[in-house]
Amino acid sequence: MQAAGNPICPKPPLSLVRHWRFDLPCGLETLMDNLTPEARSLQMSLVRSKDTKPELKARRLIHRLGFRYRLHRAELPGKPDLVFSSRRKVIFVHGCFWHGHNCKLGRMPKSNLDYWRNKIAANMARDRKTLLSLRELGWKCLTVWECNLNDEDSLAERIRRFLESAPHSGRTITDDEPRSL
Ligand code: ZN
Repeated sequence: MQAAGNPICPKPPLSLVRHWRFDLPCGLETLMDNLTPEARSLQMSLVRSKDTKPELKARRLIHRLGFRYRLHRAELPGKPDLVFSSRRKVIFVHGCFWHGHNCKLGRMPKSNLDYWRNKIAANMARDRKTLLSLRELGWKCLTVWECNLNDEDSLAERIRRFLESAPHSGRTITDDEPRSL
């Protein structure tokens, strides 16, 4: 990460920042300096994208159900959040905003719309690729959305069904799909 003010990466003029239409070829610090408060707080939640609150909540729920898992196995595509090796299944816990869920939490902010639209679209494309790669390797995938955690009972039921289902059925379960671009 380059420090703010690095000559290779000058700060953009404020007028450009207000109409954020490009990705800066520089580190987060510079980016953060120049974002509106709304965008900055969203960017901050990206920084904390590992061990996020929804993820911790999902882990506790799954642990309570009696299933054991490993975290973020780096050798698997997309470093799935929870890995159930003997069942050959993985669970991703996705923030609705960052991964483009078609729900209230997934709504685009009013400012810096182009910037966020591009960023989220890139995340969604990466997610799709990850699921395909995992499926090709014979892993079954479940995506748990942040908003699903509001109804723990039905989420618990869905997770149990997923984990107890037969392995290698050849279908990737993603439940409700992200919104279309
Ligand atoms: Zn959602």
